Amino acid sequence: MVAPFYPDHCETCGRETLFRHDVDPKADVPGGTCDECGTFVRAGPQDGVYWVTFTNMTDLSGEPAAGEYSLTMSGKRDSAAEALETAVRWALDVMRRVGLPPHGLRLDEAELRRDAIVFTDREAWPDFVEAINLSLQQRQVGA
Ligand SMILES: [Zn+2]
Repeated sequence: MVAPFYPDHCETCGRETLFRHDVDPKADVPGGTCDECGTFVRAGPQDGVYWVTFTNMTDLSGEPAAGEYSLTMSGKRDSAAEALETAVRWALDVMRRVGLPPHGLRLDEAELRRDAIVFTDREAWPDFVEAINLSLQQRQVGA
């Protein structure tokens, strides 16, 4: 089951509040109901939005141990391939400057590409960590 709440910006409250996963009965669109004021806000998934995660962790819900890293970028792209290339360039830049978070790891580009997971927003929604963990488990089985 999905987590019952997720944080989002509420237009009515004007601040970050917790949203209960919900479906607008009028339009049958997924979204959330603000826990503070009850305003319904449409949520993902959005077409054309991709998530690229680089990690050597096996469970993203925990804290990265020494030697582990995790870096995620999302944005609107034309394709999964473009999303990956954009994210690789960005991750290489982060790595050159400060290393991969949180421990400042440095890998070569081939390793970075091997650690990449690309999701559409639809695949990442509604629980990104859960989706990533499922993918990481499959990666382990396939390894
Ligand atoms: Zn609200």
